[in-house]
Amino acid sequence: TKELLENNIVESLDEIKGVGHRIVQGADKFDKTVVIDERVLETISDLSPLAPLHNPAAVVGIKAFKEFMPNATHTAVFDTAFHQTMPEEAYMYATPYEWYEKYQVRKYGAHGTSHRYVSKKVAEELGKDDLRIIVCHLGNGSSITAVKDGKCVDTSMGFTPLAGVVMGTRSGDIDVSLVPYVMEKEGKSVGEIMDCLNKKSGFLGVSQLSSDSRDIENGIADGNEKCRLAQDKYIRTVVDHIAKYYVLLGGCDVLCFTAGIGENSKSIRAQVVEKLECLGFKLDAEANNVRGEFRKISAEDSSSLIYILPT
Ligand code: AMP
Repeated sequence: TKELLENNIVESLDEIKGVGHRIVQGADKFDKTVVIDERVLETISDLSPLAPLHNPAAVVGIKAFKEFMPNATHTAVFDTAFHQTMPEEAYMYATPYEWYEKYQVRKYGAHGTSHRYVSKKVAEELGKDDLRIIVCHLGNGSSITAVKDGKCVDTSMGFTPLAGVVMGTRSGDIDVSLVPYVMEKEGKSVGEIMDCLNKKSGFLGVSQLSSDSRDIENGIADGNEKCRLAQDKYIRTVVDHIAKYYVLLGGCDVLCFTAGIGENSKSIRAQVVEKLECLGFKLDAEANNVRGEFRKISAEDSSSLIYILPT
């Protein structure tokens, strides 16, 4: 708040009418953005066991902003809210049912604000609500969502953002049996292995070089085989999810690319779409030669529209 005043962004904090707080975990308690009152704040705090690094910090932030800006409207925007429309068979794991009843073990997903925005924006652009949309949020964290008639029907992240496709430092889906195996081999705790899977895997883990897709692309240009493998694995997991959602949705009207990699890497977009050729997806190579722009990049004879849509 000091900097807002010192940099003359506002003359008085009273000028700020609203504050949006991004909250990682809203679980099944929130399916949309809400104004924060005491009950909402308490619920966000109660959900801390499901996001121990994020929700407690958000509570501290909300309290601080409320203290300095008591007259502003404070809203909580949840990463999970958009995914609350998933059907039971999408969000339930085939684990003992009592884990769900006792500990709320289920798929929650993440990046919901981005998936909601991108799917809504493209529907507005096309002037249609009844669309089958696959949104590829490809960034340092990556997730893919299937959206039908404006509602999320499945998403690639899970109980936590670790699941789904390969990411900058996260492994994406793995066989969990490798956790106790490596724990024993390396004499590590479950916390240390989880740290490896979240922070030392993905692009970074496979390439042993970098979590940044630009470094991976440069490594490939220099003939680095591990960079090639890291990107091939990434593309495979992205394509796997698109294909899975294509079947789930019974086809696809629009495929959207967004976030750091999705918006900027023409090479990754091209490699992903090339692998979807058997489903009729086809890029217009010239249109694809762009960065960070809202643009249609599908060829005229593509079975589905393909868009880049900055989130
Ligand atoms: P995000 O998490 O959405 O900020 O995305 C970060 C990722 O986007 C990193 O892997 C970056 O390497 C990647 N990225 C950003 N700009 C570019 C670019 N011009 N070309 C390729 N990848 C990019």
